[in-house]
Amino acid sequence: MDVMLQFPYRQIGRLWMAANLLLPTLMDAPFSAIPWNTPSLWQDANASLAITIQRHPTTMTELCLLASRMHQRLESLFPMMDALCCRTCPTCTDSCCQRAWVWADFRDLLFYHLADITPPEQQLLGRRGERCRYGTPHGCRLDRIRRPFVCTWYVCPAQTAILRTHPAEARRLKKALQQIQQARRQLENRFVETVFGSPHARTGAGPPVRG
Ligand code: SF4
Ligand code: SF4
Repeated sequence: MDVMLQFPYRQIGRLWMAANLLLPTLMDAPFSAIPWNTPSLWQDANASLAITIQRHPTTMTELCLLASRMHQRLESLFPMMDALCCRTCPTCTDSCCQRAWVWADFRDLLFYHLADITPPEQQLLGRRGERCRYGTPHGCRLDRIRRPFVCTWYVCPAQTAILRTHPAEARRLKKALQQIQQARRQLENRFVETVFGSPHARTGAGPPVRG
């Protein structure tokens, strides 16, 4: 069977739509369908994505540039995040990573592949009730750039309180996170258009015309 057909785009499409709608509450979301939650599913998804990208070299070059800009933007935030974590995490008694209900979504996978970043070895969680496999008593085992975006996006209450006293930094963080969100959507949309064609091209209906 064509590997493209094996890739569960319809299923993951629903999952990443749901994940995006739920993003502000993902840390506690009751959503239970973790994508690619076994080692073999994770490996298959990554292998299929790599093959799909190889099949569309021209468009993927453009998407790689977008992913590379996202990479730079993320890296520019990490010193601020490291500083916040240094101030808050060592004395934290309720670690977010110990109760996080989060995972890598399709946009994260796309980003890893297009920005040439090695994905984590496995999905963060296998099933409900588990803790993220990358959490340790001393923090996350993954480099920041390899963590799903939701882990960067989440700023805990203690860190939010510090940022309130640094409004310029808070604005910079908020703006950069919004830009990264937008780039993630763009990456996904362009990928889907490239692989499946635009909705208009698929139906032959053409774009709506104003009368
Ligand atoms: S980010 Fe905030 S909630 Fe998470 S471990 Fe650090 S201080 Fe605790
Ligand atoms: S990947 Fe790292 S930062 Fe994200 S939930 Fe797991 S331990 Fe926490």
